[in-house]
Amino acid sequence: MAALALIGKIGEHDGKEVELRGWLYNKRSSGRIHFLELRDGTGFIQCVVVKGEVPDEDFEAAGKLTQESSLRLTGIVRADARAKGGYEITVKSVMPFQVAQDYPITPKEHGIDFLMDNRHLWIRHKRQHALLSIRHEVIAAAQQYLNDNGFLRVDAPILTPAACEGTTTLFETEYFEEKAYLSQSGQLYNEADAMAFGKVYCFGPTFRAEKSKTRRHLIEFWMLEPEMAWCDQEENQRVQEELVSYIVAKVLEKRRAELAVIERDVTKLEDIKPPFPRLSYDDAIDILKGAGRDISWGDDFGAPDETLISERFTRPVFVTNYPTSMKAFYMQPEPGRPEVVKCADMLAPEGYGEIIGGSERIWDPALMEERMRQHNLSEEAYGWYMQLRKFGTVPHSGFGIGIERTVAWITGSEHIREMIPFPRLLYRLRP
Ligand code: ATP
Repeated sequence: MAALALIGKIGEHDGKEVELRGWLYNKRSSGRIHFLELRDGTGFIQCVVVKGEVPDEDFEAAGKLTQESSLRLTGIVRADARAKGGYEITVKSVMPFQVAQDYPITPKEHGIDFLMDNRHLWIRHKRQHALLSIRHEVIAAAQQYLNDNGFLRVDAPILTPAACEGTTTLFETEYFEEKAYLSQSGQLYNEADAMAFGKVYCFGPTFRAEKSKTRRHLIEFWMLEPEMAWCDQEENQRVQEELVSYIVAKVLEKRRAELAVIERDVTKLEDIKPPFPRLSYDDAIDILKGAGRDISWGDDFGAPDETLISERFTRPVFVTNYPTSMKAFYMQPEPGRPEVVKCADMLAPEGYGEIIGGSERIWDPALMEERMRQHNLSEEAYGWYMQLRKFGTVPHSGFGIGIERTVAWITGSEHIREMIPFPRLLYRLRP
């Protein structure tokens, strides 16, 4: 009996007979031979069906298989240096399960709208398979790093009564008799969790009703947010550069084949190691002005500004000390310079721009009360958050890393939409 095998681990069965279950990705035929490219979710492999070496009806059935037909087959695993992945299958029997009719995504070129409309099928294709496998690795590595470094995963709610970031990008929904909003960040809850557990992180989908139609913005994206008690902004940045370096190293270690499929220049990733350069917001403004951008101190960076800065570095760069007026109410002011806060955005190199936003949080109850007044934040909504400063307040810091932006950079992808199985974009909610 042939052992059931996975293409991704086919090397374990070299020289042996195996059974594979999957879908037909591609087929070439030349009279007496059918070359079936089979995919099973773990990989792709060429299976060679030779007339006379399989029952006649199996040879005929193989000839009738169309793209994305489902099938099982048995055959001998043979090492072959010319084959992608290093192995091919000499087929012994072919058992079609369903012959697919008129699969819409053919090997010819298709436009992006067509592919997005067919996203439920497009994810079966090689490039998408590689990208989403790398996404898995990024998430797995990030969690591994945090778990190994004493962080506890404590998730935050998705349905929330109040805003965390700006109020203009909130999705509103009904919560029985009251209004609720889809979470834009788990941060405020994370701060409570950090006071309970020390070092924590939450991981989940994040929703922003952003009207920006850029190649960096999703409406729904996944964010991993660590928060640390007894931690200042310096330490916060050290954790970030270690985390990002660890993620890149794991992708290089475990996903070489996928990086090859998408033709990523891996030399650009091999040097991603701490420490990352630091650039103050003030200096960043000078660089942008020097490059001819129309920008003044106090302005936020647009995507072209971030691109311009991050193109100058081969490692991710921290842009530190943004103006207080631009940032969230909870950020700790820089001692002696209240016009800027102790924060940093991490911009990925090669022009990718921001992948992390982080800061030290205000711990002083009096200052927090002042900020809450300035931002018109009510006692009713934020009283519980204020209590964190009353019952054993400590310096603490944290950050949020956007998974899809990180994957876009690591994979060298043009657009964020292929970094998640089913992207939610400004004009796309389907499929
Ligand atoms: P931007 O200014 O680029 O819109 P932001 O400053 O609003 O981003 P933060 O609130 O600091 O971003 O969120 C932390 C991280 O979440 C970002 O560094 C980024 O990786 C990710 N992120 C934020 N908004 C989006 C989005 N719309 N789509 C994908 N990822 C996002």
